Amino acid sequence: MNLVLFGPPGAGKGTQAKVLQETRGLPQLSTGDMLRAAIAAKSELGLKVEAILAKGDLVSDDIVIGIIDQRLNQPDAAKGAVFDGFPRTIPQAEALDKLLESRGKKIDLVIELKVDEAVLLGRAEQRVKETIAKGGTPRADDTPETVKNRLDVYRKNTAPLVAYYQKQGKVVTVDGMAPIADVTKAIDAAVAQKSR
Ligand code: AMP
Repeated sequence: MNLVLFGPPGAGKGTQAKVLQETRGLPQLSTGDMLRAAIAAKSELGLKVEAILAKGDLVSDDIVIGIIDQRLNQPDAAKGAVFDGFPRTIPQAEALDKLLESRGKKIDLVIELKVDEAVLLGRAEQRVKETIAKGGTPRADDTPETVKNRLDVYRKNTAPLVAYYQKQGKVVTVDGMAPIADVTKAIDAAVAQKSR
């Protein structure tokens, strides 16, 4: 099964993608994680995208489509994947449909995590605090200013994807404000229904 976890930054996509990886054995394909890994490795790609991520703007479609294309060639993605933070634009969604089609696959399900955007800023602040408490380094793009920009970018470029996938009849909406365990349960039910 190929599944897209959809929602604004801070909606809990990463958390739920990790649960699905555990419970369903579907690898989490997070372009954000891949880009951060490239930045940490100071690779050519990392150097190119570092300032873009720090601002909360979008990396070019070509770059992220290329990353996903390569990632889909790895054996663990053969039985499906959970897309987390990709696609973020209509051209990315169209490219993903083509990449999957060329491999005899398709997006089976899109889970839209519905959240109150006003709460997301608070969540970002919480994440920063928790990461520091654990002795880690918070994400450079979790500052209130950048989170605001990421939400603006989401509204403008990414939110229209809901209609794109609704036209394909693939969207199941889940209340992302519910406790994490309840969100997990709702997603699990949607995945189970689709697998039947
Ligand atoms: P995320 O961890 O998914 O919130 O992504 C962190 C940052 O990486 C985003 O704010 C963008 O700068 C960049 N990024 C991640 N995925 C994409 C994507 N699909 N398209 C463009 N930029 C992306």
